[in-house]
Amino acid sequence: AKGDGRNCFKYFSEELTLAARERIKTEFHLRQALERGELSLFYQPQFRVTDGKIIGAEALIRWRTADGEMIPPLRFIPIAEETGLITVIGNWVIETTCSQGKEWLNAGLPPLRLAVNLSSKQFLHSDICEVIEKTLAKTGFPAHLLELELTESILMKREKEAIDILNRLHELGVHLAIDDFGTGYSSLAYLKSFPLDVLKIDKSFIEDIPRHSDDMEITATIIAMAKNLRMRVVAEGVESPEQMTFLQKHQCDLYQGYYSSPPLPAAEFAYFYAQHCTD
Ligand code: C2E
Ligand code: CA
Ligand code: CA
Ligand code: CA
Repeated sequence: AKGDGRNCFKYFSEELTLAARERIKTEFHLRQALERGELSLFYQPQFRVTDGKIIGAEALIRWRTADGEMIPPLRFIPIAEETGLITVIGNWVIETTCSQGKEWLNAGLPPLRLAVNLSSKQFLHSDICEVIEKTLAKTGFPAHLLELELTESILMKREKEAIDILNRLHELGVHLAIDDFGTGYSSLAYLKSFPLDVLKIDKSFIEDIPRHSDDMEITATIIAMAKNLRMRVVAEGVESPEQMTFLQKHQCDLYQGYYSSPPLPAAEFAYFYAQHCTD
């Protein structure tokens, strides 16, 4: 029995080493990916529910390795967060989005709001306000066209500090959105203490409409609440006409989803948007 215990321990520590090795390997490849330009942003249009007009887009990171493999963000963003690389990657996302947005404006495309996702480390452990201010100045992209998406867990982590940062960001003129709403520990009271402009209903509520009446109740309630708080409300993951009908009925403001468009590479997005504007 003694021997078993030792084996067990040995096995356990080998697993840890393996996980650590895996992390170091991914970190190395991720740094290389940045340098080699293997990271890019896709843009998913956000449509107005009432008339289908595109009024914004969310930037979503993509990693295509040299051999053509697409690595989904959920497989490398958490590792980037653990290793601290997220600050470099996050700053790259902000800068790329702003220069892309400015390019589209210069090309004569009608203005649209671009949203980027912020991770908690990027938000709390870097001078995010300074980064945003400098990037806007450098690229010439207007602050009111930039939206920052944050999750509930980021805001709940250090509430006081978060409110300070959000207020400073708000003063710059950028819009602030709460992402994946309904999946965290939402004490609804916090919605009032944070200066948030936009609420994004998590796709886990949308996906089972109209099969699950609970999810329909919850979605309708979130929409009504957001409206009472004077927030713009966005439904994510909209895939079917039934879901659209539901959102129309409950007067959701905006939606994103495969029903109208997946995230698109920059050039394809610009083409899609230009077509859409002249239709
Ligand atoms: P998210 O911010 O909730 O992004 C929405 C995800 O839903 C995206 O997955 C998008 O491609 C997907 N989606 C869009 N329409 C539909 C639909 O109709 N049905 C379904 N089932 N899914 C849809 P993606 O691009 O794989 O990103 C996953 C997550 O990775 C994001 O979730 C976000 O948390 C994170 N992420 C992506 N880009 C960045 C980034 O630049 N920085 C940070 N920090 N996180 C990012
Ligand atoms: Ca998001
Ligand atoms: Ca989301
Ligand atoms: Ca669900």
